[in-house]
Amino acid sequence: MKGTMMQYPLTLPHLLERAGRYFGSVEIVTRMPDKSLHRYTYADFTRRARSLAQALRRAGLKKGDRVGTLMWNHYAHLEAYFGIPVSGGVLHTVNLRLHPNEIAYVINHGGDRFLIVDDVLLPLLEKVTDRIRVERVIVVPLTGQPVPSGYEDYEQFIREPADDFTYPKLDENDALGMCYTSGTTGRPKGVVYSHRAVVLHSFASAMADTLGVSGRDAVLPVVPMFHANAWGLPFTMTMVGAKQVYPGPHLDPVSLLDLMQEEQVTFSAGVPTIWFGIYRELEKRPGHWRLHPKLRTVVGGAAAPEALLRGMDRHGIQVVHAWGMTETTPLGTVSVLKPHLANLTEDEQYAYRTKQGIPVPFVDVRVVNEQGEVPPDGVTMGELQVRGPWIAGAYHDKPNIRDSFTEDGWFRTGDVATIDEEGYVKITDRTKDLIKSGGEWISSVDLENAIMAHPAVEEAAVIGIAHPKWQERPLAVVVKKEGATLTLEELHAFLTPKFAKWWLPDDVVFVAEIPRTSAGKFLKSQLREQFREHFMTKGVNT
Ligand code: ADP
Repeated sequence: MKGTMMQYPLTLPHLLERAGRYFGSVEIVTRMPDKSLHRYTYADFTRRARSLAQALRRAGLKKGDRVGTLMWNHYAHLEAYFGIPVSGGVLHTVNLRLHPNEIAYVINHGGDRFLIVDDVLLPLLEKVTDRIRVERVIVVPLTGQPVPSGYEDYEQFIREPADDFTYPKLDENDALGMCYTSGTTGRPKGVVYSHRAVVLHSFASAMADTLGVSGRDAVLPVVPMFHANAWGLPFTMTMVGAKQVYPGPHLDPVSLLDLMQEEQVTFSAGVPTIWFGIYRELEKRPGHWRLHPKLRTVVGGAAAPEALLRGMDRHGIQVVHAWGMTETTPLGTVSVLKPHLANLTEDEQYAYRTKQGIPVPFVDVRVVNEQGEVPPDGVTMGELQVRGPWIAGAYHDKPNIRDSFTEDGWFRTGDVATIDEEGYVKITDRTKDLIKSGGEWISSVDLENAIMAHPAVEEAAVIGIAHPKWQERPLAVVVKKEGATLTLEELHAFLTPKFAKWWLPDDVVFVAEIPRTSAGKFLKSQLREQFREHFMTKGVNT
């Protein structure tokens, strides 16, 4: 027997129209390049997004055509987030932190017909102009300066009102957007999001026991809109009618804190690096900022160390730890304490909160090693595999990438994880970062997190380096706090209570900074290259 419900597509036009109709007076605020604040409302946003959709159709856009965006986080990018998909186009967010060669690659491989670019990013675009095949470049005059000749002005492009715009018929499985992985391994790979995936993801991420975003929030996504859809937040916020606050190009801790204070932000999102920066600023000037008393933030993209969670708690900012990938739209697991775990000791609660959490509804997870699916014992490691309605089942135009998907329909994340009896997933490493010492695995992430709790340490990465006897041994690469000192012996003494002896790093080297990927994660491949010979030349005799 079939249900008797209507077939109603899960597509973006509904969300856009709903937002304009019911949340018309809610504000959307952007920090502009000159640091002034741009303010308008959902009513303005809806109107302009519709105008963009109409203008794209008039410019000849056909269903499925890709429109690239090379933009920071701001109101016009939000217009593109909706205006492009509701016109039947595909929003291709291009990561502006990629190397120009890769920017050219993803624009060409994605097949972008049109490109919308911030005027402040034209110098970057011009590095690749002669290598890309786009028909029209539309420039957003964020600085208020006239758009240089040879380009179209976005404001002119969308100037026609489109209140009676008729949306093209969209199927919920039609492509809505695409995003390339940052390509820490090989060429970037394109993930194509459907309307259905994004709509369901928005429901799941708004839930009280996941990110808990509601109409009562003022949300500041620090995570870039060119990276995994700013973790889906522009869609989720628009679904629930939250006030939206965008940082523009100003991502330094002081600008972010000022913005959080001025707009009384209640919810934010970003990678650990951003929050470490904010934490340091709060430590330097206690009581300086008057942040919203209920400010909370989701941290993901890399492991949130316990030291960060504790530090932020001291400043009254609650950190929710989450795991996801470009391929998972991106929300996969969220670490919210189950009610009965609130009886545990403080230390035990932190141990849960530093895990990546339990899967959100409709995401299935399993951890698999050579012996098969691992038991939920919180110890046995294997590869994390996931499936669900917003998990990629293939890459764009890459029929030969089979390694990423299992024959029985799971996506292989390339992350190494454990699962405990409560179902909490803990990422112990990426497959390629795992340290293999004498046939045993050592988690670089566990070591890093512990080292970062040392008072002399600003930040730390741990990498596996070839070793004459043990195949690989851990090397700690540390940035010391200003004026602090640290020796290998002191580090060992600090780590010994927490780890087996054979896990302790064989050496520590000090650097001025740790290289990072375009998404702000440690670029361990570069460190491994830099210290490749470390144990060979040092003759360590562990
Ligand atoms: P890239 O592969 O380009 O870095 P993503 O930004 O999609 O692409 O990153 C996904 C990866 O980031 C995951 O596979 C995982 O290794 C890491 N990651 C994401 N969230 C977390 C987290 N909370 N803890 C640890 N690692 C995380």
